[in-house]
Amino acid sequence: MEFDTIAAISTPMGEGAIAIVRLSGEEAVAIADQLFRSPSGKKLKEVETHTIHYGRIVDPKSEEIAEEVMVSLMRAPRTFTREDVVEINCHGGIVSVNRVLQLALNAGARLAEPGEFTKRAFLNGRIDLSQAEAVMDLIRAKTDRAMNVALGQMEGRLSKLISTLRQEILEVVAHVEVNIDYPEYDDVEEMTHRILVEKATYIKGELEKLLQTAQQGKILREGLSTVIIGRPNVGKSSLLNSLVQENKAIVTDIPGTTRDVIEEYVNVRGVPLRLVDTAGIRETEDIVERIGVERSREVLKKADLILLVLNSADDFTEEDKQLFAATEGMDVIVIVNKTDLPRKIDIDEVRQFAHNHQIVTTSLLEEQGIDDLERAIADMFFKGQIEAGDMTYVSNSRHIALLNQAHQAIEEVLNGIDFGTPIDIIQIDLTRTWELLGEIIGDTVQESLINQLFSQFCLGK
Ligand code: GDP
Ligand code: ZN
Repeated sequence: MEFDTIAAISTPMGEGAIAIVRLSGEEAVAIADQLFRSPSGKKLKEVETHTIHYGRIVDPKSEEIAEEVMVSLMRAPRTFTREDVVEINCHGGIVSVNRVLQLALNAGARLAEPGEFTKRAFLNGRIDLSQAEAVMDLIRAKTDRAMNVALGQMEGRLSKLISTLRQEILEVVAHVEVNIDYPEYDDVEEMTHRILVEKATYIKGELEKLLQTAQQGKILREGLSTVIIGRPNVGKSSLLNSLVQENKAIVTDIPGTTRDVIEEYVNVRGVPLRLVDTAGIRETEDIVERIGVERSREVLKKADLILLVLNSADDFTEEDKQLFAATEGMDVIVIVNKTDLPRKIDIDEVRQFAHNHQIVTTSLLEEQGIDDLERAIADMFFKGQIEAGDMTYVSNSRHIALLNQAHQAIEEVLNGIDFGTPIDIIQIDLTRTWELLGEIIGDTVQESLINQLFSQFCLGK
């Protein structure tokens, strides 16, 4: 395929002073050569592929210097888009990077649409759709761990799994076809029936496994919604502050996401926490007081993790017990704070109420026990994951929806067999399962869907 040459500002992962102007397409090198001046006078069209060069970007009309740069040159097809790619690394601020982009546009490049680089990679056969979506997740990934999930998917693990499943379905479909074409062979029908049950059960199981990981994938990408609760003065704000201070706060820069609650992201040992309504806690000291009992119940219900703070230097009160009751069945870590003061709380009684929740003792004032708390949080969510390091995490809501539909379709197949439904009807659900899975990797997807997906991408990727 052939496309015009596109350009955009593409900021590298994470923050940093460097910004990149990326060019992709047939004319990428020629356009860059119009602007680039190396100390030796060498042109980019003469240099080897996958090399980096120091030099300056000038306005070709005036030879006025715009920016000092490092330019990477990567020739097709060993590039992300499978086209010639030039990346101009500018270390200057946003003004100079925009200037360089403008010069590239003047020299004949077209401003890329959001996601267009990734779209080209897809259209040029470099990546499949689920990989393209993984790139999108990668752009949005808020922590290293979430990034690994996205990367794993990019390597095509999910695609490979889905492809294998589809292949299996295809084989069953082939068997069924034989049965429909030669209904007079009794043994064929029997065999088809057996194979159908066997394979459909297997595929159903595999889909369930994938769906089970979906929750985890979602957690990793979005952050665990975490709520700190406790009576006034037990140390909620102190806890929040030490979590934010100890851990690099995660900056979110996703445009267009409106949130009705104010959130703060922190990365605790690889676990992204989304501390919900923390601003509220900070301002009025009390989430219940600020948003009312009803609303705070809702917030609690939606929380993935509750940090319940108690005061060690005070009695275990009726109010404390009510907080335990309000969070029954949820993931709770109990924090007994102010251990620097003489203990008054009855720890055994707390233990009774805590059931199997973890209890951590802290003195936030003296910065004691915060490590234990962080370890408890990480343990809680990564215990299962470490041994399952090889698993594919489904972290994309479109994938999850399709997997659910595919799961439903394969259940229909199994039900059909149970009810003695004619095999050519069963065949329809089987084919549907195959199609739905194909949509995940972009095989049977409509053009309009592709456009919709790629338009969500950030500019310059
Ligand atoms: P909140 O009302 O639950 O948000 O509690 P704060 O975090 O505002 O803390 C209430 C008071 O307790 C403040 O004066 C804190 O300095 C103090 N405090 C917090 N943690 C500790 C602790 O571990 N030990 C002691 N002695 N005081 C603490
Ligand atoms: Zn407070």
